[in-house]
Amino acid sequence: MIVHLTFDEMADVAFIEELNDDSKELILRVQSHILDCTECKAMYDKLYALRSTADRLVNDGPMMQKSAALRFIRTLTDNFTLTQDRVQRWFDKVISETSELYLTVVKTQLGRITEISSLSSDMFDFGYALPIGARGSETHGVIDKTVLIDDNDTDNRVSVVDGNCLVVQFRTENFASPDPHILIVSDTGDVRCSKLSQNGEVFEARFYGLEAGEYRVYFE
Ligand SMILES: [Zn+2]
Repeated sequence: MIVHLTFDEMADVAFIEELNDDSKELILRVQSHILDCTECKAMYDKLYALRSTADRLVNDGPMMQKSAALRFIRTLTDNFTLTQDRVQRWFDKVISETSELYLTVVKTQLGRITEISSLSSDMFDFGYALPIGARGSETHGVIDKTVLIDDNDTDNRVSVVDGNCLVVQFRTENFASPDPHILIVSDTGDVRCSKLSQNGEVFEARFYGLEAGEYRVYFE
């Protein structure tokens, strides 16, 4: 039986920071294994590509710190049951940075989400000219800043329920995959992944207990 490399072993080598006796031994082991194993080599190549991307982004401007990238990968494999195939597809998403949304989540000290905002999106147009969430949410001149609505399709929306649960909802026709997932990555590298569940014409996912901060949002 073939004993494959673990994800952490490959990540440790792809993101190696310093050479010592332990890391040299690991590098030798990983490199000799991927010479003969196309399966592990494919994953290692993805990790290495991600490291290169992270390095380039750090040089261009610290959009994604190397350590955040590594935490990102680790969290994926620690907390979620994702197949290696799905992890690879996420890497492709991160590397190509397609279909990306940015969210800003603002919370009060009591932990309620008081504001969400979107900075950019390839797939949807949340660039509504009036203040965020004004359309359909404005009551008596009070602007609800906890709702984002796609300018082209009001079924595409991001909102907050009960002050602490972020709900993302998108029309099913926006997704090619019959089993789509959503991944949100905070600016500190924390990652949450959720399967989108179908509710009639829309897919929906809920995230509880998000910290304040900026999030990149990826769909698959
Ligand atoms: Zn292998």
